[in-house]
Amino acid sequence: MSDQTKFIPFFPNPVERAHYIAGPCSAETEEQVIGTAKALKEIGIDIFRAGIWKPRTRPNAFEGHGEKALAWLREAKKETGLKVATEVASPAHLDLVLKYDIDVIWIGARTVVNPFSVQAIADALRGVDIPVMVKNPINPDLKLWIGALERIQGAGIKRIAAIHRGFSAFGDTEYRNPPRWQMPIELRRLFPELTLICDSSHICGNRQMLESVSQKALDLGYDGVHLEVHPDPDHALSDAAQQITPAVFKDIKSRLIFRKLSTDNLEYLENLQNLRRQIDDLDDELISILGERMKLARKIGQYKGENNISIYQPERWNEILTSCMKKGQLKQLSDQFIANMLKTIHQESIDQQGHVIGSKAPGPNDGKIK
Ligand code: PEP
Ligand code: MN
Repeated sequence: MSDQTKFIPFFPNPVERAHYIAGPCSAETEEQVIGTAKALKEIGIDIFRAGIWKPRTRPNAFEGHGEKALAWLREAKKETGLKVATEVASPAHLDLVLKYDIDVIWIGARTVVNPFSVQAIADALRGVDIPVMVKNPINPDLKLWIGALERIQGAGIKRIAAIHRGFSAFGDTEYRNPPRWQMPIELRRLFPELTLICDSSHICGNRQMLESVSQKALDLGYDGVHLEVHPDPDHALSDAAQQITPAVFKDIKSRLIFRKLSTDNLEYLENLQNLRRQIDDLDDELISILGERMKLARKIGQYKGENNISIYQPERWNEILTSCMKKGQLKQLSDQFIANMLKTIHQESIDQQGHVIGSKAPGPNDGKIK
């Protein structure tokens, strides 16, 4: 995205609280839509959601009621005063959504993977004033997510939010779509003003983890949470395992803690500054130690080169890994962290030794020394 790209807050009059988008996975009947909307209005949400066209992984599953359900959403809006949202996957969907006065649209994870589809929706959005939420693509490709946000913004849409719904994975994982938190964290780093919502329902795929995942997102500074709510989750026509009743939603919402980005409490600010200074000092030390370590690695590289010895020595690498993990445990550092950190250091070391030996091919870290 260009440097000039600036997002404006998605929610009007942003306040210091978590925002909630909730509603059934699919609009199933008029009573279900209106009943759920009324219950959620009472609990307090920002946007009521329901899927009208359902992108199903396999054929013969419930694919949504289409246009007739848009009338139910419009009625829910009229009866509750809530803003209503649905998924749009094509310009034809967008035409219908606008015809039925839907307030907000989202582009689903399976559509975001396809730049042709996203561009077609973006072109159809030109001249339309509607807030758009863009889910992450099902594959963990941050650039593709950013590209979709860019296309929508390029169409002149002002109010845009990103929805993090996790990423597909093969095989059994504890999540339906593992969150890979580093992706939304990087999105936030690149575009701090872009509103970020956590779709805990599609990340978890179950009810048990909804609260902890939602809280984790709020701990990371997300602006809000998206949860699928159904009056009778067990009999829902789609995503039954992850949907919750309005009562459970109310419970979870009452326990979630919103975390502000900052505060003007002076004592807190002073203490934080003090701790951060100590962190900065330690980071300086880390960099200087790493520099020294690489100096030694280059020296070793030179000896290996002179003696025609291979750079990579699996036995030595295993030895370092095992002994550092043991030491790490005594300092409350997880094996995973030690392994990841050492792998990065080791790769850099191999690259630098490669440079000394005169290898032309890029190394694992592709680390050119400037
Ligand atoms: C949905 O929100 O109901 C949906 C289909 O989500 P996703 O595009 O994230 O799979
Ligand atoms: Mn769903």
